[in-house]
Amino acid sequence: MSVQSAVLGQSRIGPKREAKKAVEAYWADKISAEDLQTAAKQIRAENWKNAKDAGIDIIPSNDFSFYDHVLDVSVLFNNIPSKYATAAKEHQLSSLDVMFAMGRGRQRDGVDVEASEMKKWFDSNYHFIVPEFDSTTKFSLSSEVKPVIEYKEAKEAGYETRPVILGPISYLLLGKAGKNADSSFKPLSLLDTLVPVYAELLKQLKEAGAQSVQLDEPVLVYDQPAELAESFKKAYGTLAIAGPAVTIATYFGRITENIDCLKDLPVEAIHIDLDKARGAPEQLEPVIEAIKGTKLKLSLGLVSGRNVWKADLANAIAVGQKAIDALGADRIVVASSSSLLHTPVTLANETKLSEEVKDWFSFSTEKLAEVATIAKALSGKSDEVKDALEKNKKSIAARREFEQKSDAAVRDRLAAVKPEMYNRKSPFPERIAAQQKRFPLPKFPTTTIGSFPQTKEIRQARAKFTKGELSTEDYDKFIASEIDNVIQFQESIGIDVLVHGEPERNDMVQYFGEQLEGFVFTENAWVQSYGSRYVRPPIIVSDVSRPKPMTVKWSSYAQSKSKQPVKGMLTGPVTILNWSFPRIDVSREVQSKQLALALRDEVCDLEKAKIFAIQVDEPAIREGLPLRRADWDAYLRWAVDSFKLSTAGVENDTQIHSHFCYSDFNDVWHVFQELDADVISIEASKSDLKLLEVFKRNAYANDVGPGVYDIHSPRVPSVEELKNKIKEFIQAGIRKDRMVVNPDCGLKTRGWGETEESLKNMVEAAKWAREAFA
Ligand code: GLN
Ligand code: ZN
Repeated sequence: MSVQSAVLGQSRIGPKREAKKAVEAYWADKISAEDLQTAAKQIRAENWKNAKDAGIDIIPSNDFSFYDHVLDVSVLFNNIPSKYATAAKEHQLSSLDVMFAMGRGRQRDGVDVEASEMKKWFDSNYHFIVPEFDSTTKFSLSSEVKPVIEYKEAKEAGYETRPVILGPISYLLLGKAGKNADSSFKPLSLLDTLVPVYAELLKQLKEAGAQSVQLDEPVLVYDQPAELAESFKKAYGTLAIAGPAVTIATYFGRITENIDCLKDLPVEAIHIDLDKARGAPEQLEPVIEAIKGTKLKLSLGLVSGRNVWKADLANAIAVGQKAIDALGADRIVVASSSSLLHTPVTLANETKLSEEVKDWFSFSTEKLAEVATIAKALSGKSDEVKDALEKNKKSIAARREFEQKSDAAVRDRLAAVKPEMYNRKSPFPERIAAQQKRFPLPKFPTTTIGSFPQTKEIRQARAKFTKGELSTEDYDKFIASEIDNVIQFQESIGIDVLVHGEPERNDMVQYFGEQLEGFVFTENAWVQSYGSRYVRPPIIVSDVSRPKPMTVKWSSYAQSKSKQPVKGMLTGPVTILNWSFPRIDVSREVQSKQLALALRDEVCDLEKAKIFAIQVDEPAIREGLPLRRADWDAYLRWAVDSFKLSTAGVENDTQIHSHFCYSDFNDVWHVFQELDADVISIEASKSDLKLLEVFKRNAYANDVGPGVYDIHSPRVPSVEELKNKIKEFIQAGIRKDRMVVNPDCGLKTRGWGETEESLKNMVEAAKWAREAFA
């Protein structure tokens, strides 16, 4: 009996970012909708071909998206919030344009609608468009049934595929109550009206010839109430017989606690994520136990959809064999752990990695072959894949050997960290008094978050420098003059704690990764973050250390230009880790703490260089949280410890700042106090109410700067508005003797015009507050 191979979804951006180029050209009116579709067809055709060539039995379709697969479902079922529906009607927008309007907003030809809310997709760096519901939401199948269209397109090209669609329960639970919903409204209450429309879709897929369909229900990896099992029974009782055979896919975590939702369903198969690093290999046994007495097939996510590392095939085969022994080969499918959307497209376009390093990795395309090879080996066809297995064994052994000889000094140092290294010398009240003595600041001191506008000139100079068209000397001169400007400007308007503006930095993680040992960088390893926005995370490959100071030169230069304190500016260990592809041979905790030690040295070197205010940014600390609450504490413990380890080496009179953004911090508020930074700044202006709630309930003892204006928009806040903001914050519970006045994030995406005006107004408002709250 042969074990089938499956892939849950492929990367959809194209090997050279073809999707981004086409989509952005369409937005800029440079290509037509037809041209855009042609570009998409090419990407899809290439994906199908790659999967087939690799020997994948179950090839996904409808895994392509121009923007986001959750948004696609909203469009598919005509769940269009009224402002977009109205704009569509009044301006005859195509459904493609409505979709883009929902994804990114639309401001042209008399239409002016904002983008819908975006949220992180589980614990990945992908973001989805949050569906909106209220009790009047009606679903109907759109006239363009994307899953059917793409299924047929594949079929015509000669590929039998399994369409992938987000399942009804996850679609509802990932959504939110819309503006018009009353407070008791629950999206799940719409299940009964949604299921028939899904059933209609499945019927159409069956009529088109589809034999199986993959419905993703990843919400099962979150904590769920026991009653959810009832909803699954109801929904899938209908859907299992409505059309093609159904596989329910889960990923990114364990479903053990929610297995009752799945184990008695009349569907064909369930998929579980067994990826070691980001999935839950430990769920295999309990899941097998739960479904043993049923007919359910089990799809094993054995090849990681989340990381860039080559799979250990021998190990995967051993796991697969265990499942076969328990359930029989005809009930087992071998698959990627999740969609391959979260991994870069192909190693083939990496020309600068050494052969040794390249041999450690597998990107999306290479992972296809791994899945197929495991399935063959488990089907008793080891002979056919003998060479592949042999080669993999050698690669894995070589990597293991490299890991052994990676930096012993770093590991010894980490092992020798003493508990006192995590804490500052004295508690905050003593420290802040010492800091006030060193540089007295007024009440409501003003500062900014770090970056100033990254102008075209800055980007051009950097590009020229990278290409070798600008000498180091000239580039340095250019950066120095940028810093001069930024310092001069801040002094001229009366900012109290200055920054150097970060003109020398391409990116807040890459800049440090490039100067640390233990990272490698790629040329084309992009992954989608949201819409046409892709990121190219550095890869941590070995123990991390800092060969020499990274920021001291420019920070010292900046400080030499002013009598005011100029903040040294670093990215924190947890953020560097969360925005990189981590190693999988050691824990994230170990990597985070190695980074912390490297940064600790940098912090101490800055202090030695007489930089007495040092900011360590941790914008990504919240997003590293595990999916289940039970696992939060363990993560927060090492995340907090990493930050403290990186900052606690300084004297009392050196002021440690930190900055947080991108997230709703309501439920992890206690963490701020534990970090014990002298001053924190937080993005507040966008999530006002939520943040204020937090201040009401918690007394935060150290200095805090809730952002007084939103830097994500070019709008200039008036002095009046800023005064009101300060008032609001104080009314909400921020202590007037502890409040710092700052924007809500770095200014790098802004232009100089609005930056100058906004900051001037901000300083005015702070001056007013000094009087008003004296
Ligand atoms: N210091 C960084 C900046 O100002 C912080 C960026 C961030 O929070 N993402 O650009
Ligand atoms: Zn920020």
